[in-house]
Amino acid sequence: MASSSYSNPPCAACKFLRRKCLPDCIFAAYFPPEEPQKFANVHKIFGASNVSKLLNEVLPHQREDTVNSLAYEAEARIKDPVYGCVGAISVLQKQVIKLQKELDATNADLIRYTCNEMATTHHQGGGGGRRIISDHGGGGSSGHSHNFYYPSTNWNHDSCGDGYPRGDI
Ligand SMILES: [Zn+2]
Repeated sequence: MASSSYSNPPCAACKFLRRKCLPDCIFAAYFPPEEPQKFANVHKIFGASNVSKLLNEVLPHQREDTVNSLAYEAEARIKDPVYGCVGAISVLQKQVIKLQKELDATNADLIRYTCNEMATTHHQGGGGGRRIISDHGGGGSSGHSHNFYYPSTNWNHDSCGDGYPRGDI
């Protein structure tokens, strides 16, 4: 009844603002009527006139990314009025730091494991070569410094194989 004379339904922005959606509507391409919440969020956080100004300031090919960015920020700000998307970024940055530490530790373990594998291949019949897993941590090995069947005893060595005791004791 109250619809305009245009055959196309008004965009989400014009519907929300209860105005006629003209053919040159700057919102129409980015706020389709089937996504009403997208504009509602952006309008609530940034205001329709600011969004309109922003879209006019950027190049046409940048407008879709601009709208997606605004919609993302608006949704995050509605979910978390204090931190907005900064909250999510902060959590992810902490995760990155934590995972980087885990990766560094795992790489260090891998290097030690590779060194010990190389070293144990020099021995014949050394049955203790697989004890590396149970010896993870490498601490308290000073008492076994001459027992070459325990690869972990050589974890303190900087190089692979150099100075490693060979043959029989
Ligand atoms: Zn419109």
